[in-house]
Amino acid sequence: MNKQINHLIKQNIIASGDKRELEKVANQFSVAITDEMIALIDQNDPDDPIRKQFTPSKEELNITAEEREDPIGDHTFEPVKGITHRYPDRVLLKPLHTCPVYCRFCFRREDVGGDTKLMSPKELDDAINYIQNHDEIWEVILTGGDPLLLSPRRLKKILDRLDNIAHVKIIRIHSKVPIVDPKRITNEVCNLLKSSSKTVWLAIHANHPKEITPAFKAATDLLSDSGIPLISQTVLLKGINDNVQTLDLLFRKLVEHKVKPYYLHHPDLAKGTSHFRLPIEEGQDLMKTLHTQLSGICKPTYVYDIPGGFGKMPLTPTYYKTGEIEDIHGDIHDVKG
Ligand SMILES: *Cc1c(COP(=O)(O)O)cnc(C)c1O
Ligand code: SF4
Repeated sequence: MNKQINHLIKQNIIASGDKRELEKVANQFSVAITDEMIALIDQNDPDDPIRKQFTPSKEELNITAEEREDPIGDHTFEPVKGITHRYPDRVLLKPLHTCPVYCRFCFRREDVGGDTKLMSPKELDDAINYIQNHDEIWEVILTGGDPLLLSPRRLKKILDRLDNIAHVKIIRIHSKVPIVDPKRITNEVCNLLKSSSKTVWLAIHANHPKEITPAFKAATDLLSDSGIPLISQTVLLKGINDNVQTLDLLFRKLVEHKVKPYYLHHPDLAKGTSHFRLPIEEGQDLMKTLHTQLSGICKPTYVYDIPGGFGKMPLTPTYYKTGEIEDIHGDIHDVKG
């Protein structure tokens, strides 16, 4: 018996007839959803974008040959537990493996959830020492799991440790909390982020305009009033946001809430997620259309994390070929005579 599955059946979010199969899914990949997200689901719409993102489906049992346990190669560059150091000037620091929701397309679904929740004090010491001993590290990216699930006391401990490392200038927090559990963004949390001697940026994971609620507005208002720069990351997902209208509206709403769209991620090769993936060419066509109709400040960079840990590659459609601009100039010249 799975508590989360029972909860979703009780809330009429999934049918009791699907219970056995969905328990199989839940045994393999963690399940959790917040009350805020349940409240947004249209119970009569099987294709509701919130439902599709956070409630398990039988399709997840379909694991394809190209899918991987560590699709972006986090563990290929793990010098000590909880640190991923792939680019010289920045590291990921993962203090916990818990999330407020478990996205069905998660690229770290083999790592998040389960029993290992927090880094042990010794593991945290080793991770902090690693950062201390590598003076090329300019930026520390807190991710996980969701760092804003840490109690303010624990979060403060980590920020204080980083405060003492002179070569670290930027702390970036990656979180879904402002969307899925916005009441956690309190004055206390904002004051904590503000009181760090480092510059703290927050990257918010947002995938659909339906997620932009009054509670999200309250959270982002508090954060921007505290001087925290806000950026967003979106995953391009088949059947959820893979059309021009949805992405156009999402990016505009983010900018209206003082959040700069940063990355649009092509979905990774995580296990049991093939139903969310679409061809890169389709993503590029969407970006081409968005390019003509969106303000520059609404446009994210479309990227793909190359499987195996080779890093993020921009998928920006190519507009320029060598000689093209010169040709256009030539044409204009000809017209002008
Ligand atoms: C994505 C990622 C980063 C951050 O990359 P940016 O392009 O700076 O946002 C850093 N380290 C690892 C291992 C990553 O996967
Ligand atoms: S919040 Fe991020 S890490 Fe957590 S399940 Fe969703 S995509 Fe994965």
